[in-house]
Amino acid sequence: MGEHKYVQYEIDGRVAAITLDRADKANSQNERMLDELDACFDRAERDDDVGVIVLRANGKHFSAGHDLNTGDPDQVSLAEPDGRYQLHKMYRWEAKKYFGYSWKWRNIPKPTIAAVQGRCIAGALNLLWPMDLIVASEDARFEDPVVMMAIGGVEYHGHTWELGARRAKDMLFTQRAFTAAEALQFGLVRSVHPREQLWEETMELAHHISQHNAFGLAQAKRAVNQTLDVQGYYAALQSVFDIHHTGHGNAMSITGFPILMRLEGMKEGLKANEAREAAKKA
Ligand code: ZN
Repeated sequence: MGEHKYVQYEIDGRVAAITLDRADKANSQNERMLDELDACFDRAERDDDVGVIVLRANGKHFSAGHDLNTGDPDQVSLAEPDGRYQLHKMYRWEAKKYFGYSWKWRNIPKPTIAAVQGRCIAGALNLLWPMDLIVASEDARFEDPVVMMAIGGVEYHGHTWELGARRAKDMLFTQRAFTAAEALQFGLVRSVHPREQLWEETMELAHHISQHNAFGLAQAKRAVNQTLDVQGYYAALQSVFDIHHTGHGNAMSITGFPILMRLEGMKEGLKANEAREAAKKA
């Protein structure tokens, strides 16, 4: 269906498959992609014939995170006419698009499954943490290297809940990517498959779950989510979102721009991280 520019929506039996479709930019997320994604999740939630929602991505990588290219017409510009940024505008926008959407998707009363290949960098985790189950291909890698921008992690801090405190610190401090094998060992992903079998395996799981009673599934999801929520999950996410914004505020106070590093610097930093990991393996 061609109604969206960056996302595809398909129905297969009782499964809705939402596919990130910006492979030429490694599925980096601009505002329009996030709005389209939200529209697709809304549609899947409303459709009584949809029992399970799959989130997947075309191309080599699941997502390179947020689009940091300030020239993209489908990305909002929050800059003032003089090029500087104001924290209150940034905060309001991210509260809706980078945190609010993720929180909303986390609470959809239907099982959600992500199929992940290649790299999942920073903002990609805002899409993954809210999903109920994650299926990965062997080449999947998970990283949040935004400390290089002088920020303590992305907007939706699932890290500590998903990985445990020490692994979350490892991920954030070292900026290294956790491999699919590590993610399986941590319980972050439920299974790992060769790349060419990823979608088939994920859809099979989705079809299997979608045959179960919809209200039972919704209540099972609510039971687990509610258990996290009474332990402070939502309160912790909210306060870490604010910590994230002291990072933006700090960068703005120094450079006028919300992150200390621009797109090119980020690319260089990722390359350096990769080279270091490769050197260790050799
Ligand atoms: Zn941010």
